Amino acid sequence: MGSDESRARIAVLLPTGFPHVATYLLPAGTPPPPVGSRVAAPFGPRLLTGLVAPGEVPVVPEGTTEREIVAVLDESSFLPEPFVDLLLRAAAYYFAPPGELLRAAVPGRLLDLGEASYVPTSRSIGAPPLEGRAAEVLSALLEMGRATPLELGARLGSHGLGKALRALLDGGLARIPSEGMRAARPPVSRGWIARGTADDPRLARRPKQKAALAHLAALGRPASAAELRAAGATPAVLASLAKEGLVSVVEEDRPADASRHALPPRAVEAFVPTDAQREAVEAVGRALAAGKEARFLLDGVTGSGKTEVYLAALERSIALGRQGILLVPEIALVPGLIRRVVGRFGTRVSLLHSGLSDGERSAAWERARRGEVDAVVGPRSAVFAPLPRLGLIVVDEAHDGSYKQAEAPRYDARTVARVRAHREGAVLLLGSATPSMEQEQAARDGSVTRLVLPARPGARDRAAVEVVDLRGEPARAGDHGRVLFASRTVELLRGAFDRGEQGIVLLNRRGFSPSLLCRACGQDFRCTSCSVARTYHRRGERLLCHYCGDLLPVPRACPACGSDVLMPVGFGTERLAERFEEIFPEIPYAVLDRDAAARRGGAARVLADFESGAAQALLGTQMVAKGHDFPNATVLAVLDADALLSFPDFRSAERTFQLVTQAAGRVGRGDRPGLVAVQTARPEHEAIAAAVAQDHPRFAAGELRFRRTFAYPPFSHLLLALWTARELPEAEESARAGRAEIARLPRLRLLGPAPAPLERLKGVYRVQLLVKSDSREALAEAGDRLRALPVPPRLDRDPQSLL
Ligand code: ADP
Ligand code: ZN
Ligand code: ZN
Repeated sequence: MGSDESRARIAVLLPTGFPHVATYLLPAGTPPPPVGSRVAAPFGPRLLTGLVAPGEVPVVPEGTTEREIVAVLDESSFLPEPFVDLLLRAAAYYFAPPGELLRAAVPGRLLDLGEASYVPTSRSIGAPPLEGRAAEVLSALLEMGRATPLELGARLGSHGLGKALRALLDGGLARIPSEGMRAARPPVSRGWIARGTADDPRLARRPKQKAALAHLAALGRPASAAELRAAGATPAVLASLAKEGLVSVVEEDRPADASRHALPPRAVEAFVPTDAQREAVEAVGRALAAGKEARFLLDGVTGSGKTEVYLAALERSIALGRQGILLVPEIALVPGLIRRVVGRFGTRVSLLHSGLSDGERSAAWERARRGEVDAVVGPRSAVFAPLPRLGLIVVDEAHDGSYKQAEAPRYDARTVARVRAHREGAVLLLGSATPSMEQEQAARDGSVTRLVLPARPGARDRAAVEVVDLRGEPARAGDHGRVLFASRTVELLRGAFDRGEQGIVLLNRRGFSPSLLCRACGQDFRCTSCSVARTYHRRGERLLCHYCGDLLPVPRACPACGSDVLMPVGFGTERLAERFEEIFPEIPYAVLDRDAAARRGGAARVLADFESGAAQALLGTQMVAKGHDFPNATVLAVLDADALLSFPDFRSAERTFQLVTQAAGRVGRGDRPGLVAVQTARPEHEAIAAAVAQDHPRFAAGELRFRRTFAYPPFSHLLLALWTARELPEAEESARAGRAEIARLPRLRLLGPAPAPLERLKGVYRVQLLVKSDSREALAEAGDRLRALPVPPRLDRDPQSLL
């Protein structure tokens, strides 16, 4: 290295799966860029944009050649140090490469170099002559002054061009100046505007152009190309209009797009906050004013007005000059909440979620980063919203499992929110009618302050819950002994419909029915790579594996015995809809499930139909039970509470209790009382019984006892290690080696290795080891050791599902 010894090095967080931050040399004479600024760095054959990381520069391993930063892209830091630090901590905690967190947090476009151009440096003048391709490229560069690889390729051919450019960069003979690189520029949106009118004589014989221009002129605002295409104006039509000077493209900052995800506006009801609401807001307000970290659990029964507390708390934070984040389980499922947020904060709120295009997401993110919005609303990834003066993080439906990302990086937004609130001196407000056992225990031991909203405002009672016992209920012929609609359930729904009220039916399965069965031999059409039964989808007559997505056409005859009596057993939302039509032929209904949400208009349209009354019934999966506020819905039927209850997971009772209680929260929110019918064959089960009583403290008391006895969270911390292999013995062997590696570490309890509940998925065997500990440090040590193994497992810290 010689003279390089004295040169400055920086640590860089790159958006790759590289397990650490990387180290780079700074070009001679370049002042060290501040932490959080973006730099362009060579990585393998590519050039990447990374963030300058704080702290000690790691020691460079022996024998690695050090590379130099190619360009510093920001003059001042792009993200503050605590933000970069948050990503690094989260990466370490979840045993994830830091780059994975960077990619989860920062929109790709802000880390996208685009087509960089190259310029020759002064060193290239007196340099010893080069050979071959590099020499050609350098002389072309010297001649052109500045060129992109595309331009060089057009001139010299693309063969070996990348390698030659790399060699020139590494030798210091060429550089990439930062200005003009895409990642250094803030994103803007491009929109078309009208500059002429549709009665322009040039358009007399061009109906498409005429229509497009009329449309654009009528809009009276810039419109995106995608939006115009939907209105029939193709890029070719726009291009021909542009040639005539009748339209042109402008660039602008994108306005908040919140209205797209909101229910249609309705008159805001002004109400006087209840005493409990006022006290909760005051408590949060005092913590905000103190400007120090604080944590609250807003424990309020469904319909008690938690949203009002969130919004008032956000207003307090804003009044103190700080911004807030409102996390929700899923944007598409809360159009009513978005409407209220938009009604309150207008364009000072921005939505951040994965349904946005990368450009839209970047624009929303940039507005947040520049402090141009007061609040950000979004699902788990919005916990990384780069608000410069964060005062408050609200987590709505804080018990919801979707806050934990199921794929890598497997972070939990609630944990990240807690760390972030601590680092930035912000207030964390978790809200739920059914707090998780972790949250419940934290409130009991005082590590979060509980704020209670004990009742619904006004004289409204909570919905009653009635058990509909399925034992002894006769099944319909052809339903294979299973009951879809019990007669009592039908009676209750009919009552609501007759009174002109609305009903909701919840069945937690997609498709026509869960499976297809051969009545002659019992063949059940499992997915051969996942060991789970395929779901029968009547639309398209297909058998779908919901784990790996593999589709099979429905066979004419049983492949095992040749019989042609194949019949669907069990029920899914499609079958539910069909049966519903049979029983209630005159009732218009809408279906809400993943399939519906993926369709045009999505969940917001389905929910709007139900709100407007166009649909008198709403049928669907768990999605129908999440947080909606429909005053005219009075009866909700949970058809298969038992399905959740028998899930092989220690949280199955908690999930069942939450589902039934949340379901009860969806009805009786208006002036008329609500009723929930829970169909079950296990009415005596504590999760059902406590939900019927809507008694969270009672459920929590029993459930916490169980968790303590078996050392499950919140009384232990979990780490789930999973090994996969084409052959079972291979996966088992790796898992045994994993167990041996950590067997002697203190304060751990190891369960397994054992086949995962989903033993085979997508063609690979899965063997898992569950690590329990009362010490986070011990668990961290175990995870680090497992990660360093020759065959490292997939690690899931604080897993939400053990499947
Ligand atoms: P939660 O989020 O706790 O389930 P919401 O915030 O959705 O409850 O409120 C339930 C309903 O009660 C909403 O229609 C809301 O407008 C109404 N509401 C909230 N606070 C009050 C109040 N103080 N007085 C009257 N109605 C209220
Ligand atoms: Zn058969
Ligand atoms: Zn499968």
